[in-house]
Amino acid sequence: MRVKITLVCSECKQRNYDSTKNKKNDPDRLEMKKYCRFCRKHTLHKESK
Ligand SMILES: [Zn+2]
Repeated sequence: MRVKITLVCSECKQRNYDSTKNKKNDPDRLEMKKYCRFCRKHTLHKESK
């Protein structure tokens, strides 16, 4: 049930993280706060297709 996702910084649009998620737990688009080395701070990262 695990699918591959890419996390994109919502501020600079860089793809900073590759991850997996459980479709059962997260049926919708995932959002999480992560460190962005381009913004040099924690920003909201969103799942991209
Ligand atoms: Zn960023």
